[in-house]
Amino acid sequence: MLIDLEISRNKIEKNLEKIRGINENIIYVLKDDAYGLGIENILPILIENGCDYYAVAYIEEALEIKRILRERFSKEVNVMMLNYTEVEDIKIAVENGIELTIYSLFQFREYEKIFSEILEEGKNNIKIHIKLNTGMNRLGFDGDEIEELCGILKRFQVRNENKRFLEYDKKGEGVKTVEKIGKLEIVSIFSHISDSENLEKTEAQVKKYEEFLRIFQKMGIDYRYTHLQASPLLFKYREKYNYDFGRVGMAIYGMEPLSERVGLEQVINLHSKIISLRKVRKGEQVSYGNNGLLERDTIVAVVPIGYAHGLKKQIESSNSYILIKGEKAYILGEVCMDMILVDVTDIKGVSVGDKAVIIGVQGDEEITLLKMAKWAKTIQDDILTNFDKSIRRKIVE
Ligand SMILES: *Cc1c(COP(=O)(O)O)cnc(C)c1O
Repeated sequence: MLIDLEISRNKIEKNLEKIRGINENIIYVLKDDAYGLGIENILPILIENGCDYYAVAYIEEALEIKRILRERFSKEVNVMMLNYTEVEDIKIAVENGIELTIYSLFQFREYEKIFSEILEEGKNNIKIHIKLNTGMNRLGFDGDEIEELCGILKRFQVRNENKRFLEYDKKGEGVKTVEKIGKLEIVSIFSHISDSENLEKTEAQVKKYEEFLRIFQKMGIDYRYTHLQASPLLFKYREKYNYDFGRVGMAIYGMEPLSERVGLEQVINLHSKIISLRKVRKGEQVSYGNNGLLERDTIVAVVPIGYAHGLKKQIESSNSYILIKGEKAYILGEVCMDMILVDVTDIKGVSVGDKAVIIGVQGDEEITLLKMAKWAKTIQDDILTNFDKSIRRKIVE
C-alpha cells in the first residue's frame, strides 16, 4: 500500500489523561472498528492504560475485544453494545458476558423468547442497559412507555428473587418452577444528548432523564448505573453530568467535540508520497473535466490517494491542500479515484518519492481532521471512519 495511517500512542494517552481529568469513570467507545482506526490497534493501548469498560456497535466487535483479551491479556473487561443486536446473536452475546442495549418495547418483545430460554437454562445472567429517549428521537424508550417497560422488568425481577420462572404472556399468567435460574441484570439506565452546545435543549434533556429515572425508582426497579455523557457533554459541562460513567469516543481519537478547541491531541498522521512530477503550461487543464485550468506554468505532483481510500471528493472545491516539505501543496482539479494532483511550483527541491501528508503535522504546518472535515463540508467522524481498510495502520510512539 502506498498510504500509511500512523496512530500515535502518546497522543492517545494524552487524550485519555484529559478525559479522565474530568471524569475518571469512562466507558471507552470503540464502535465501528474504533472509529475506523481498528479495534486491534486501539484496544491494546487502552488496556495498557487501565481502561476496563468498552462500548461497541456490533456483536462481532464485542467478540473481537473478548478474543484479544483472551489471547493477549489476562484480564476481564466489560463490553456493552450500543446498537441493535439480532435475535440470533443474543445467545452468543450472553454466553460471552456481553451487555445488550434495549431501547424499545418492540425489541424487548422480540427478545422475550430467547431471554426466557437463556434464563431457564440458568448458566448465564443476561446483562442489559436500558436506553431512554430524552429528545434525540433516535433510539430509546419514550416517557409514556416507561411504566409498561417497568412492568416487564418487574416480572423478571420477581423471577430473579423467587428463583422461579414466570412464563411471560400477555396476561402475565402461567407459573412454572425451575431449579436453577439466570438473572436479568439491569446494568444501567442511560440516555444520549443530541446537541451539547445548545444549553437549553441539553438541560431539558437532562431534566427529562432525571424524571424518567425517578419513575424507575418509584416502580422499584433495581438498576446499577446511570450515564449520559459523551465527549461533547464532558467538555462542555465538565464534571457536572458525570453520573456513574461517561461514554467517550471521539475525544480518545483527538477529534474536537465542541466548536471551540478544547486542546486534544491529533492522533493520526495520514501520508503517502509523490509518484510523478510534471511541468504543465499555463492555460492547460489537469485531472478530469475542466475545473483544473492552470493560471500559470505549474509543477504538478501526483499523490496516490483518492476517494476510493476515503479522501472526500468534496474537498476539491474548497481550496484544500496537502503538505509537502512542510509547505502547502494545493489540490488541482478533481480528486480522482486513487490519485490527487497538487501544485508544488512554489516548493523548493521537490522530487518523486517525497512524503506527502494528507492529515497530520509536517514542519510548521498541520492539517487537522477538523480542517479536512470543513473542506469536505462534513464532520470529523465522517472523515475518520471512512479511511479504506486496505490502508496500513501503524502504531507509533
Ligand atoms: C457514539 C456514542 C457515544 C460516544 O460519542 P462521542 O461523541 O464520540 O464521544 C456515546 N454514546 C452513544 C450512545 C453513542 O452512540
